[in-house]
Amino acid sequence: MSLAKLARIFSTPLPIDAWPGQPSVSIVRGDLIHPVVSGNKIYKLLPLLKQAHQQNVKRLVSVGGRFSNHLHALSWAGHLLGFKTVGFYRSYTGQELTPTLRDCLNWGMTLHAISPQQYQARDTEAFWSLIENQYPQSAYIREGGWSADAIEGSSAWWQSIPKSAKTVVLPVGSGTTMVGLLANAPENVRVIGVPVYRDPDGYQALHERLSIHNRNQTRFELWGGYAGKGFGRSNSNLIQFAEQFERQSGVKLDLVYNAKSFYALFERLMQNDVAVSEGVAILHTGGLQGLRK
Ligand SMILES: *Cc1c(COP(=O)(O)O)cnc(C)c1O
Repeated sequence: MSLAKLARIFSTPLPIDAWPGQPSVSIVRGDLIHPVVSGNKIYKLLPLLKQAHQQNVKRLVSVGGRFSNHLHALSWAGHLLGFKTVGFYRSYTGQELTPTLRDCLNWGMTLHAISPQQYQARDTEAFWSLIENQYPQSAYIREGGWSADAIEGSSAWWQSIPKSAKTVVLPVGSGTTMVGLLANAPENVRVIGVPVYRDPDGYQALHERLSIHNRNQTRFELWGGYAGKGFGRSNSNLIQFAEQFERQSGVKLDLVYNAKSFYALFERLMQNDVAVSEGVAILHTGGLQGLRK
C-alpha cells in the first residue's frame, strides 16, 4: 500500500454514536477506523512515516510494553508500507509472547526483550545511543510520540468531533494526543484529559507540559483519580463498568485507556458535573487489540 492511500483511510471522518440515555453526549468511534489498529496511534505515526519515506530511511525502531498498541500499529504500518521494523519490549525473563507481540512478529518486526529497568530508561539519550549503534540509519521513534509531528498528527481528531461539542473528553497516556487537540482546538471548547496512570504529584508535570504547548490558551482540565492501581492495571469495578457499558451501548471499551475515561465521564454525568446541554464528545481511542489474553 502507498502512504497516500494509508493517509486517505485515516482521514475519513469517524462514526459517531450517542451515549446511552444522553443524546447530546457523542462517542467519537476511533475504534472503528480500522479492524486491526487504533486510529490514535496511526494519527501519531503518519507524519513520522512520511518523513522516513522522504528521507529514504528503511528501518523504524521503537519501544513499548507487551500489550503495546504503539508497537502493534508500527509493525502493521511497516509491513503494509515496506519498512523494516524493530521493537524493544518490556519483559521479565521467561514471559511468553502476548497476542500483541505475536502479531508484531507476523508483520515482520524484529523483537528484542528488555528488562523493566532498561525500559524505565527508555526516554534517556543513553538508551537510544545503544540502539543507534545496534541499528544505525533508522528512524528512532519514542514511545509516546511527543514530537511536533506526532502532535500535529493527533489534531486529526478534530475532523470527526461534532461542531456542537463544547467539552471534549479523552484518555491520557503520554499526553501527545491531548496536546494535538489543544494545539488546534476551535474557540470556546474545553478539553478534558483523564490520566490512566498514577502520579503522586497530582499530574503537575503533565499539566505543565500541556500548558507549554497550549498555543491558543484553550481551556483544559485533568480529571485525576480514575487511574485505579496504575497504568495497565484494572480492577473488578472497571471490568464491571466496561461490561455494563457494552451491554447498554454495544460499544466495547479497552481496560487500559477507554474504560477509565468513560468511567470518569459516567461518574461526572451522574453528578451533573458536566454541562451536557452544551454538547459533550468523548473520544474512543481504540486499543481493543490489547484485550486479548
Ligand atoms: C496510546 C493510547 C492512548 C494515549 O495517547 P497519548 O497520546 O499517549 O496520551 C489512548 N488510547 C489508546 C487506545 C492508546 O493506544
